Amino acid sequence: MAVPKARKSKAKTAMRKAHWYRKVQPKNLVPCPNCGELIKPHRVCPFCGHYKGKEELPVEDNLE
Ligand SMILES: [Zn+2]
Repeated sequence: MAVPKARKSKAKTAMRKAHWYRKVQPKNLVPCPNCGELIKPHRVCPFCGHYKGKEELPVEDNLE
């Protein structure tokens, strides 16, 4: 198995982690057809409780 010859410096580690924002960014968010908030697709809206425009679930008020 290949083994690193020397420890990576703090600068090299920081340079590598500078690109992590690409993985952290949310990739697919769609606006809720009922309330317009950005939500994950194929999931019940956590803001208004709607899914596909009709199914309504109780939403706790602590989200706002
Ligand atoms: Zn909604």
